[in-house]
Amino acid sequence: MVKITIMGASGTIGKTVAFNLAEKDVIDEIIMFSRPSSHERVKGEILDMYDALAAEDIDCELKASSDYADLAGSSIVLITSGVPRKEGMSRLDLAVPNSKIVQEYSKQIAIHAPDSVILIVTNPVDVMTSIALKTSGFDKKRVIGLGNHLDSLRLKTLLSQHFHINSREIHTRVIGEHGDHMVPLLSSTTIGGILLKSFVEYMDLDVPKLVETLKNSGNNIISKKGATEYGPSYAISNLILTIANDTRKILTVSTYLEGEVEGVYDVSLGVPVILCKHGIKRIVPLKMNDEERTEFFDAARTVKKTTYELEKMLNKE
Ligand code: NAP
Repeated sequence: MVKITIMGASGTIGKTVAFNLAEKDVIDEIIMFSRPSSHERVKGEILDMYDALAAEDIDCELKASSDYADLAGSSIVLITSGVPRKEGMSRLDLAVPNSKIVQEYSKQIAIHAPDSVILIVTNPVDVMTSIALKTSGFDKKRVIGLGNHLDSLRLKTLLSQHFHINSREIHTRVIGEHGDHMVPLLSSTTIGGILLKSFVEYMDLDVPKLVETLKNSGNNIISKKGATEYGPSYAISNLILTIANDTRKILTVSTYLEGEVEGVYDVSLGVPVILCKHGIKRIVPLKMNDEERTEFFDAARTVKKTTYELEKMLNKE
C-alpha cells in the first residue's frame, strides 16, 4: 500500500503532481491536502481527475483533506505550499512567509506521519529544506528538496538540442543552489559515455550563454505563461516514484550537508544521491574542476547566509 500526501494541493504544482502520479497507476492513495479555504476547489479537481482516470482504466484513490490526521500512513509527504512572489519581493522577503508555512507543516508531519520522507518544493527550496529538517527533527536522509534535479533535466534538454542527440544519451548534473548559484557540472558531462569536450559540436557551444539560458529557464517560462507547471511536477514525480518503488536511481536533491562534499557543512544544497524507499541511501562522490568547486563554495556561502538570516528573524518572533 503506497500512500502519498501532497500539501498545497490546490496549487499549480500540487494538482499537476497529483494527476501525474495517479496516471502512473502505482500509487494506491493520494491525499490532496489544502487549507480549508481551498477544500472545495480540490474536491472539484479530484472529480475532474476521476473522469480522466476512468478513460485510462486507472483506479487510484484521491482524497481532498484539510485534516492533518489524514497524513497518517503516508510514505512521502510533499510540501508545495507557498505564497506567490510579488514584484519587488527579495528572496528573503519570500523566505519569511514560506518558512512559517513549512515550519507548521513539518511540525504536523512529524506528529502525524513520523515515518515519512518529506519532499520540499516551496522556494527558496534549499533554505526550506533546512527549515523542514530542523523543525521535523527527522533524520536528514528523510528530508529532501527538489531543485537541481529539475535544473539537470533542463540542462539535458539544452545539450540534446545543441548536439542533436537523443536526450537519453546525455548524462549531466547541476548541483549547488536551485537559483542563481547553481553549478552545471559540464566537466564531467558525458554523451553516450564519452566526455562532452570530445564531440566536434562542443567547439560551437557557447558555454556562458548555455549557463545563462539554464539559469533563466524558470523565469522565462513564468514570463510567458505565468508559472512553471509540467517541468517541476514531472521532476517531482521522478523523485516520488524512485522513492516509492525503491529504484535506487542517482538523482540530485537538496540535502543538509555535514562535510560530505568538499567539506561544506550546515547548509542544504543539491548534490547527487542514491534514492531508496527510506529517502537518501547515500551521497554519491563528485568530481568537480577548480571553477566548479569555487562556484559550489559560492552557492554554499549564499544559501547559508540566507538560512542564518532567516533563522535569526524567526527566532526573534
Ligand atoms: P501556487 O499555484 O501559487 O500554489 C501554492 C499553494 O500554496 C496554494 O495553492 C495554496 O495551497 C498554498 N498557499 C498559498 N498561500 C498560503 C499560505 N499563506 N498558507 C498556507 N498555504 C498557502 O504555486 P505553485 O506554482 O504551485 O508553486 C508552489 C511553490 O513551489 C512555490 O513556492 C514555488 O516557488 C515553488 N516551486 C519550486 C520549484 C522547485 O524546483 N523547487 C519549482 C516550481 C515551483 P492550498 O490552498 O491548497 O493549501
